[in-house]
Amino acid sequence: MAELPHVVVVGGGPGGLAAAARLSARGTAAVRVTLFCTGGRASFLAGAIDVAARGAQPRSFGTEILLPGVEVRPQAVLAAHADGVALADGSVRADAVIAAPGLALRGAARLPSWPRAVWAWDPGGAAAWHEGGVGDAGGVGDAGDVGAAGDVGDAADVGRGATLVAVCGLPYRCPPAPFSLANLLAGGSGQASVTVATPEPTPLAAVGADAPAHLIHAAAESGVELETGFIVDLDASQDGLLRSQDGRELRYRRAFLIPPHERAACLAHLEGPGPLVSVGTHGRVQESMLYVIGDAAATGLPRAAGIARGAGVLAADDVLERLGVCAREEAQPLAASCYVFHRDGRASRIRTRYPPGGPQVEVDPPSLELAREREAELAAFLRGARGVAVAGG
Ligand SMILES: Cc1cc2nc3c(=O)[nH]c(=O)nc-3n(C[C@H](O)[C@H](O)[C@H](O)COP(=O)(O)OP(=O)(O)OC[C@H]3O[C@@H](n4cnc5c(N)ncnc54)[C@H](O)[C@@H]3O)c2cc1C
Repeated sequence: MAELPHVVVVGGGPGGLAAAARLSARGTAAVRVTLFCTGGRASFLAGAIDVAARGAQPRSFGTEILLPGVEVRPQAVLAAHADGVALADGSVRADAVIAAPGLALRGAARLPSWPRAVWAWDPGGAAAWHEGGVGDAGGVGDAGDVGAAGDVGDAADVGRGATLVAVCGLPYRCPPAPFSLANLLAGGSGQASVTVATPEPTPLAAVGADAPAHLIHAAAESGVELETGFIVDLDASQDGLLRSQDGRELRYRRAFLIPPHERAACLAHLEGPGPLVSVGTHGRVQESMLYVIGDAAATGLPRAAGIARGAGVLAADDVLERLGVCAREEAQPLAASCYVFHRDGRASRIRTRYPPGGPQVEVDPPSLELAREREAELAAFLRGARGVAVAGG
């Protein structure tokens, strides 16, 4: 009996899970599907906000991956190619590879180690916000602490920006999320002042429509100050003081710093702008059987879970058609829902959809109902990763 075509999926985020689930569901008994994911676990990255601002446990946002009809291998891929993947202990051949490794966060060894700052943008890293150092998430230490650092100015200077959330490079995962985190931190006890700094001249300008105004209004309502066009100059900054390339200064008692995002190492050999890989239709790389989807792909769309999921489905359908397994189904426009928390714990939602006619953006006003829907998204993600429901709803 001829061997079944083999499709390898790299990554257990929304993109990889959706691709693997789709391949398995539509290619039943006609393709063999293997999913490689570091550690064999899926992580709901948005949980970084809940961990930092609400003290949630990082483990609540992860689960073992168990997809029916998919062989899950808890291994890191060293390099993804059109004909297979390289591993530390050899290689695995494939007829097509769908790579969704997301973006890597610059590692601690290449970031300044500042006692007042936490570098994180995932649930595991965000737990450091509650560990040791200067105060905790609910109390930012006293102003005297900053004076004690000596060269960052007097305690009296430290009013504005006592707690800082700063985006330290573009692109980054989920454009509205830093604002969401800042709003919640502003609602926490003892947060006298919270500033969010972003390199974008206007937050969410790329999403457009009502999204920028919504985010700016939500920040103002939560008492969060915005510092826009703030391109961080790490070399000129120090513990307690973040400087921008144009010479602005933000003093902080505590900072949640979102590290620069980098290319996933397994895609290092591919072409593309900065951390992103250049892709064609359905994520194909140079018309080969290698597909790069989700946060790792240079598509011009936001780095959001819904976009990664939809791209996973499109790539899987394209692979199945090219392998002669089944014709593609009618493509659904890519769409994403990004939740924005407000100071009082309600959530609003920015919904984006990208049909051929041009982007559609809708903003749902804050409500407790939306906060519950965000909880339901987490539950659906975890169930999907365990194969209880197909990821992609
Ligand atoms: C704080 C925060 C809030 C967010 N809020 C929202 C929101 O409200 N709505 C929304 O739509 N999106 C949100 N996002 C964005 C969303 O989480 C990402 O866009 C989405 O996870 C990207 O999916 P992905 O599959 O491309 O990559 P990822 O989710 O990053 O998954 C990549 C997977 O690949 C694995 N991997 C990496 N390298 C390798 C390798 N070499 N070999 C094997 N496995 C590898 C990783 O372990 C991981 O499992 C948020 C993100 C953050 C950080």
